Amino acid sequence: QEVSEKIAAGEVIERPSSVIKELVENSLDASSDDIRVHINKAGKELIRIIDNGHGIHPDDVELAFSRHATSKVSGINDLNKISTLGFRGEALASIAAVSRIELRTRQNNQKEGTKLIMDGGIIKEIGSTGCPVGTDISVKDLFFNTPARLKFLRKDASEIALIQDIVNKLALAHPNVRFSLFNNNNKLLNTSGRNDLFEVIANIYGYQTAKKMLYVEYDANDISLRGYISRPELTRSNRNYQTLYVNGRYVKSSFLSERIEKGYHTLLAKHRYPFAIIKMNIPQEKLDINVHPAKIHVRFSDQKYVGDVMTKAITNTLKREEL
Ligand code: ADP
Ligand code: MG
Repeated sequence: QEVSEKIAAGEVIERPSSVIKELVENSLDASSDDIRVHINKAGKELIRIIDNGHGIHPDDVELAFSRHATSKVSGINDLNKISTLGFRGEALASIAAVSRIELRTRQNNQKEGTKLIMDGGIIKEIGSTGCPVGTDISVKDLFFNTPARLKFLRKDASEIALIQDIVNKLALAHPNVRFSLFNNNNKLLNTSGRNDLFEVIANIYGYQTAKKMLYVEYDANDISLRGYISRPELTRSNRNYQTLYVNGRYVKSSFLSERIEKGYHTLLAKHRYPFAIIKMNIPQEKLDINVHPAKIHVRFSDQKYVGDVMTKAITNTLKREEL
């Protein structure tokens, strides 16, 4: 499959949560360490993201919203260049086409920032403005001009759940970044950015849950595993509570999940799944990556070895705790 086809497969901005994922990943790309997400009415009315990243140069603001060629992507085998949709270099253009945008952005070395207002992809206003360093982008009335897509949105509660899930995963991936998420001014998440994964787990799932997690730390040759796995009393009835990262990116891998469960098996009640948040670092050349619009699937050139390392990391952790 051609890189360009894989890119085309990621074309869609489906719902508020996919907009938020793209915008937050842009904020992370801009080296932000404080990212605030505000939504109104589950993101259907408003999605606003305020970051303290390096901002956009006045000469580049218009360009950022155009569909530029993905010159950055020469091969697909670099997970860090892939942000499922964003690596195509047209997330902003796609979002702007189906919403009303209000953007303020300023770079550190600029006296003034830039303000941009767009309506369905058409620029209504652009000029300089006073604003803090970083980027403040509002996406209003998502899909106002594409009623068919608007109709596909679910009721607020489920759109909010999807948004929370994405922001939680990004916060877990980046404990060094301060994240907050508000819906209609109700706080849904607030992390400190103190680079403490345990604390982020506590922020998301509650301190009582975090307390029942065991630290996982395991290195084998060029594979390093870090994270937390639940004590046996905190198993779950499905895999939704297994969050896996490979080289900093959230991935889905039933293979890795099975290998975690295998390590857990002696203690694991039948049909129950450990709660786990595990980050793997492995040389990029040992990965085979498959990109879908909403998910990253990953395979390893040496599946058996990687699987054994994962199982070993879990059994070692349980033994260390004398479980
Ligand atoms: P991509 O992220 O793949 O380059 P996008 O359409 O998501 O494509 O963004 C286009 C460009 O706009 C980015 O490459 C970046 O230069 C700029 N940009 C977008 N959001 C931000 C942000 N929050 N801070 C700084 N620059 C940004
Ligand atoms: Mg992007």
